[in-house]
Amino acid sequence: MSLQCPDCEAEGSLEIRSTLQLQKDQCQSEVTLQIIECHECQFSGLAVFEEGRRGAGDTRAWKHTGYRLGETDLNYVRELILACPKPFDPTCDCLAHSQFGICDSHGVWIGLAGFDARGSFPIRLNV
Ligand SMILES: [Zn+2]
Ligand SMILES: [Zn+2]
Repeated sequence: MSLQCPDCEAEGSLEIRSTLQLQKDQCQSEVTLQIIECHECQFSGLAVFEEGRRGAGDTRAWKHTGYRLGETDLNYVRELILACPKPFDPTCDCLAHSQFGICDSHGVWIGLAGFDARGSFPIRLNV
């Protein structure tokens, strides 16, 4: 998978460095957190891939959004993800999984609440 950097816009320069798969019974969507880094410029950020579980028929709604986080927040998220022993196991109960796998009473994912997101951008795939 090759992604386009929102800063330098070089095609295929953005790489997914770490992944954390989240999925809780009380959530309406399957969420994957990704640490993204550009190897052309210094950009790094967080990407969130959300896929709805209750779409009608075959239409599974999904969205892939990038977030600009402050350096402290981003380092914190990165450290938690790297410390997870089972990043692809949604039932893992490590700190990262319990902190980011949160949904409100309506099933809406709120795992990034409390972080200082400085803006978001759509993730563009280069096919
Ligand atoms: Zn870049
Ligand atoms: Zn974990």
